[in-house]
Amino acid sequence: MNTLTDVVVIGGGQAGLAAGYHLRRRKLDFVILDAQSSAGGAWQHTWDSLHLFSPAGFSSLPGRLMPAQPGQEYPDAAHVVDYLSDYEQRYSLPVHRPITVRAVRRDGPRLRLETDAGRWSARAVISATGTWWRPFLPAVPGREVFAGRQLHTTGYRRPSDFAGQHVIVVGGGNSGAQIAADLATSKDVGLTWVTQRPPRFLADDIDGRALFDAATARRRALDEGLTDTGGVASLGDIVAVPPVRAARDAGLLKAQPMFTALTEGGVQWADGTRAQADAVIWCTGFRPALSHLAPLGLRGERGHIATQGTRAVDEPRLHLLGYGDWTGPASATLIGVGRPARDAVADIAAMVTG
Ligand code: FAD
Repeated sequence: MNTLTDVVVIGGGQAGLAAGYHLRRRKLDFVILDAQSSAGGAWQHTWDSLHLFSPAGFSSLPGRLMPAQPGQEYPDAAHVVDYLSDYEQRYSLPVHRPITVRAVRRDGPRLRLETDAGRWSARAVISATGTWWRPFLPAVPGREVFAGRQLHTTGYRRPSDFAGQHVIVVGGGNSGAQIAADLATSKDVGLTWVTQRPPRFLADDIDGRALFDAATARRRALDEGLTDTGGVASLGDIVAVPPVRAARDAGLLKAQPMFTALTEGGVQWADGTRAQADAVIWCTGFRPALSHLAPLGLRGERGHIATQGTRAVDEPRLHLLGYGDWTGPASATLIGVGRPARDAVADIAAMVTG
């Protein structure tokens, strides 16, 4: 099977759906291919207690406000899944799943997509595959000798999975702080929280709304040749969402400096101090999931691809959407992905219809 269309969107999470909304409005011929078997992208796989760091009204995709979740100022991940399922139905977005795109190749004036369900041929491609699928683990000596369990943020679900155990949580970002708070408030789990530098909590009254504003202000300053405002990083690393704030205020979130090695039974610091551990949870971030684009030979530093806006500099038929500030300010958030999605589709519409 070889299906011809104008545009293929790879990925049916929030970024792919935002692109779909704008493609629909422009009446372009398109499909969205998504590797998951149901709607919701990465939100289907997060830990049980995860809540958004912004209220519903500030977590919306273009065209449709996220409804509030009864009793929750900050909606949970299941609410986001419901919102995204409803969104794709409301706009009749042509999402085909489960289909994994294995490779994108140049094919004369078109791009050819090879998938586990046949081939597509498109005049333009929007890659919106997120980062959840490519966890990053740092190279720390002894990782292979540690006899306990090692998992990444992506593998964590709930404290009861570690009942009676001592767990080391590594990472001073939002995932590390939230998972540490989740475990710290569980009576039958021992916790050591380890961060590379002392944790930097944002002021308690700052949430995702301010992060979006900071990312947008930074992009504007850089575009206008003004001094770099530092963006989100200048504010801190950890949004003090209610469970994190509660654990911190109860004195349960005290971080240790990063250890230097894992041992068979735990971890060890430079001065020889050791801690026993049954499990280590690496909350050490993600990389963009771009392996399907490897045949195009565009890979640059840290796995990124050089872009102007969302368009790949060396392959103008390809746009990258939702991977982080390098593909649009706050583009890796629900509220932030709408604008770069709109701009990417405008660019594609000019190319396809021009
Ligand atoms: P994803 O949700 O990962 O969707 C990508 C889709 O592409 C998936 O369905 C995947 O299966 C599919 N895919 C991947 N590769 C292929 C392939 N080769 N072929 C076909 N399909 C493929 N943002 C906020 O706005 N508010 C928050 O509170 C917030 N909290 C977060 C908490 C955590 C722990 C994390 C990790 C992120 C958080 N984010 C938050 C950031 C962001 O909103 C989410 O990461 C979101 O899931 C990103 O959406 P996406 O569409 O870019 O990627």
